[in-house]
Amino acid sequence: MTWEVVIGIEVHVQLRTARKLFCGDSVVFGDPPNTHVCPVCLGLPGALPTLNPEAVALALRTALALDCTVHETSVWARKNYFYPDLPKGYQITQFEQPLATHGRVVFDGRARGSEVRIRRIHMEEDAGKSIHDRFHALTAVDLNRAGTPLVEIVTDPDLRDASDARAFLTALKHTLEYADVSDCNMEEGSLRADANVSIRRLGDEALGTKTEIKNVNSFSGIEKAITLEVERQLELAESGGQVVAQTLLWDDHNERLRAMRSKEESHDYRYFPDPDLPPLIVRSADVETARAAVPELPRARATRFGEQYGLSAYDAGVLTQSRDGADYFEDVARATGEAKQAANWVMGPVQALMNQRGETTSTFPVVAESLAELIRMVDDGSISDTVGKRVLETMATDGRSAPEVVATEGLEQVRDDDALAAWIDEVVEDFPEEISRCRSGETRLVGFLVGQVMRRSGGAADPRRVNELLRERLHP
Ligand code: ADP
Ligand code: MG
Repeated sequence: MTWEVVIGIEVHVQLRTARKLFCGDSVVFGDPPNTHVCPVCLGLPGALPTLNPEAVALALRTALALDCTVHETSVWARKNYFYPDLPKGYQITQFEQPLATHGRVVFDGRARGSEVRIRRIHMEEDAGKSIHDRFHALTAVDLNRAGTPLVEIVTDPDLRDASDARAFLTALKHTLEYADVSDCNMEEGSLRADANVSIRRLGDEALGTKTEIKNVNSFSGIEKAITLEVERQLELAESGGQVVAQTLLWDDHNERLRAMRSKEESHDYRYFPDPDLPPLIVRSADVETARAAVPELPRARATRFGEQYGLSAYDAGVLTQSRDGADYFEDVARATGEAKQAANWVMGPVQALMNQRGETTSTFPVVAESLAELIRMVDDGSISDTVGKRVLETMATDGRSAPEVVATEGLEQVRDDDALAAWIDEVVEDFPEEISRCRSGETRLVGFLVGQVMRRSGGAADPRRVNELLRERLHP
């Protein structure tokens, strides 16, 4: 029997706002428990919610970055359930009329340019946090997170493979980072993905019974969890069993799935429109403002890099990893007028130095204009490539410009024949045997001799001229 795997993903993304969705409390991660709370997010009787427009603007930008249709009217709903970290006894979310629908995300998975449809994006508030490992045999509740603005992004069941699910999530995160709507920090819970998994006979139209995997906090975890769940469902089906609809919790430490509860149906939540909040009306001017805030997105930018700068797909991909990094490359390319050179420097020595210093573009001290100045000096032959790399390190350490470093450290490339001849004399004297072997035909030793001259010059000699002079000396 041949089976087809069906996967749909739900992602909760914490919007990058200063304040909560319906009250003025700050959104801060890691502060002492219950220090950012007020009557509204504590659910005290009589407290009324007021919508934070900053959150709406970011949710709109998210929807547009994912190619969704934004609805003029969306409706706040109460999702009712009892849990200690939900003081109101309900979560304010959107249900029947969400903010946006019908989007898509393109990603490179097993096939290049695969597409996942986005079914809906709605806004909602986060719950607080239950902490089970702080006091023995007790659960503590921290409500700092209660009321934090989220968007939930729900895909259609379009994915067919665990590795594609991971590739989709990577592309989604990349887009959200570019759009700057969230910090997407998975360890801090700013981006949480749940996977819905089922199987069906190949060719069947109807979907199989699904399970939902929660509590995964990395993309590699998602891929592993889905893979295990697919294996379990396949074995079950092959042995004549039935998949039971349920929620499974991922245990990252043991890399295992545990059944949490049988899945509740949406009618269990007794959704109804929140009487304390009017429908959310989005005017077309708001949509246009949000659209203007959507930057060129990573795929489009990589394609443009290929066309405009003649870069390979691989290089364009590397250079568009982060928006800051892509901006940096473009600034350098513009300032030098040499895109290929700029790409080589940014992906090569600059990236190596950033790795070594534990930095990213946003903290790297050598700004684009300074790097361009350095590249120009290498380009016009004032300094050699090797010296250029050393100059870059000095620039990063003490903040001086390339011309300053080169002038004060005497690194200007030496092309003066007399000066070069003096170093060559030394080498000829120090390596008589190599010289004679070279003369009798062992030409590969020329490289060694040039290297010796370069060493004596502290890297400043012009290697091409050294090569020429040395050959003249060997075969007069
Ligand atoms: P629920 O009512 O259980 O929350 P939804 O229909 O709202 O289910 O879908 C939630 C997510 O599960 C969506 O991402 C959707 O694409 C996915 N999904 C729905 N049915 C299936 C299925 N049979 N197999 C895999 N994924 C599914
Ligand atoms: Mg659902």
